[in-house]
Amino acid sequence: MEFCSAVGSDQYDAVVRAGRRLLVALDFDGTLAPIVDDPTAAHIHPDAPLVLDKLAAEVRGIAVITGRPARQVLALGGLDEVGDAIAEHDRELVVLGQYGNERWTSYERRVITPKPPPGLSGLIRELPRLLREAGVPDAWIEEKGLAVAVHTRRLADPEAAFAQLLPALAEAARERRLAIEPGRMVIEIRAGGMDKGRALSSLVSELEASAVVFVGDDLGDVPAFEAALKVREAGFPALLVCSGSEEQRALREIVDLVVDGPDGVMQFLRVLAADVAAAHVSK
Ligand SMILES: [Mg+2]
Repeated sequence: MEFCSAVGSDQYDAVVRAGRRLLVALDFDGTLAPIVDDPTAAHIHPDAPLVLDKLAAEVRGIAVITGRPARQVLALGGLDEVGDAIAEHDRELVVLGQYGNERWTSYERRVITPKPPPGLSGLIRELPRLLREAGVPDAWIEEKGLAVAVHTRRLADPEAAFAQLLPALAEAARERRLAIEPGRMVIEIRAGGMDKGRALSSLVSELEASAVVFVGDDLGDVPAFEAALKVREAGFPALLVCSGSEEQRALREIVDLVVDGPDGVMQFLRVLAADVAAAHVSK
């Protein structure tokens, strides 16, 4: 493994030694699943179920922390079945949807969802007009329950459309006290007050994990990387891994390791599982 931070190699060794106290948290799109033109068809990497199962046997827990609704990611990831397999090792799979606002666990097996934020339904009604005024009437609107996403990936010039839309949507979100989340050719508007960083921090405490690995690929993952750094500042090991792409290079500055997209994530998790298992044996 070629680490890109000065501390990467030491942090990796320390998370390996943490073994049963280690929480491995992963983003979904671009990390566990390849980015595709139709986000409703972003199925999990075919190797993921087996890789997650192997890893779960060696660590404290595995979490998927995503902007998607929890039910959607459960379906696209086949995570119900992954949870069944993980339960065999008496380990838990936690799925935190909509940036941590929704929660599903392989123990409880139901999605807990809060009410949609005030202002969201009004904004959704206004969206067709806002898109027309921004000159991007054909952007695809995806209602997500607690959020709405506007996708530009399938337009003729996705990047120009994204740039045209961002200021208009940021203003509309600000007026209604909603949060805006720019991603890879998608802009989301959602409830404020929760992000992947808060989601990760509370899960670390809840599981009493004393080491964390977080893998993400996009700007919405930055708060989770920062939460992982806080774990490190508190004196516990934390490894920050970026599922790299040409589309999103901003994260490369803050992480310890860049792997090559979902294929690279699978390879990393395989090696991590094997190293943790070997460390258990040698104890
Ligand atoms: Mg992602």
